[in-house]
Amino acid sequence: MVGLMDRQTEISGHLKGSFGGAHFGPISGPFIAKAEAGNILFLSGSIHQPIRSPMIKLTSGKDSQFSLSNVTIGNQFHWERKEVQTFQGDLLFHLRPQGTICVINQIPLEDYLSSVVSSEMSGDGPFEFLKAHAILSRSWLLTSLDRKQKTEEMVIPKENIVEGEMIRWYDREDHDLFDVCADDHCQRYQGILKTAVEKAQRAVQETNGNVIAFRDEICDARYSKCCGGLTENFSTAWGNKQIPYLTSLPDASISHPPIKTEEEASNWILSTPEAYCRVGDENLLKQILPDFDQQTKNFFRWKVEYSRRELEALIRKKSGIDFGTLQEITPLTRGPSGRISRLKIVGSKRSMIIGKELEIRRWLSPSHLYSSAFVIKKDGDRFIFHGAGWGHGVGLCQIGAAVMATQGFSAEEILKHYFQGVEVKKVY
Ligand SMILES: [Zn+2]
Ligand SMILES: [Zn+2]
Repeated sequence: MVGLMDRQTEISGHLKGSFGGAHFGPISGPFIAKAEAGNILFLSGSIHQPIRSPMIKLTSGKDSQFSLSNVTIGNQFHWERKEVQTFQGDLLFHLRPQGTICVINQIPLEDYLSSVVSSEMSGDGPFEFLKAHAILSRSWLLTSLDRKQKTEEMVIPKENIVEGEMIRWYDREDHDLFDVCADDHCQRYQGILKTAVEKAQRAVQETNGNVIAFRDEICDARYSKCCGGLTENFSTAWGNKQIPYLTSLPDASISHPPIKTEEEASNWILSTPEAYCRVGDENLLKQILPDFDQQTKNFFRWKVEYSRRELEALIRKKSGIDFGTLQEITPLTRGPSGRISRLKIVGSKRSMIIGKELEIRRWLSPSHLYSSAFVIKKDGDRFIFHGAGWGHGVGLCQIGAAVMATQGFSAEEILKHYFQGVEVKKVY
């Protein structure tokens, strides 16, 4: 059950082939679904009467597809945009109590994976990389489904708010009506019309049922776009626990010591150390990144600049807190990749400590900063952020993994590099 769109009042799309339901005949062609007085009103030229119900399920006929207009991808990230997307499987509409509609796609797990692999990265990437990603995404999904079952009776704290300090993180238990969403929050699932899906399908088929496991348990396989040369510990981004296979390591054939001090962070971030994810070759990036990610350049080392006033306005808008005149932004705690997990913001009216990495990225950018691995230089009235990497940096580095594949590493070797001590194993 994949959530495709949520909290919408009107949805339009197109049914290609025929779809059926419990109380109505075959439907095809363009449709509109609207929230209306305790029901969903479903209109299609192929049926005489509109359907009115708080829950509508359209069951896909053989080889049928549906497309949806205005699907948001990259929600609140710098690559946010709207697209028409096409999917296979059943289509469900759920009315929420607030009078909005949630759109869900029910699809077999292995079909879902083919789409994820070609949505996360270019489906035309190196084959061993696509295989590694299929195993990775399968492991991620299975642990996610398992955890969803377990957490239904259990409340997991995701916040630690004390006087003057707000440390927050976001995990995957947030979905109620469906198992996973279709966006970067979970795994990107952008339907079936992405280029070169066949190659991704073959990678999924060839690794059918394979996962990575640590001590006989399927791994919580995290990944992000570019670690910046060192991967990060689980606890820098999420809850305070140590997970042996989600522990920082150099993403390189040479060793890089973990970052411990501000001076080391500065030296690391302001240099361009050797790493698998340090890609100078534009053509290689074109081959491994999906089109809309190719607009993001210089993510291995990056720079963002604000005037003091711009930054004050930004923080006020994103946090809802007025700090007054911004005086200092000071990193207090960093993980071994240089990513900041606790940051102190000092203003004339108040000061506050915030975390963890995603919250920091959210506060300091109109969308999100690429990562929380940054150092701040003040130049008169300007705040200059020099940073490293793209994403939380925990687990597999997608760019690094793709580069490893072009250098001849196998899917298994790639996975064992990023997740130390794991085995690849077939679970079905
Ligand atoms: Zn999600
Ligand atoms: Zn990397």
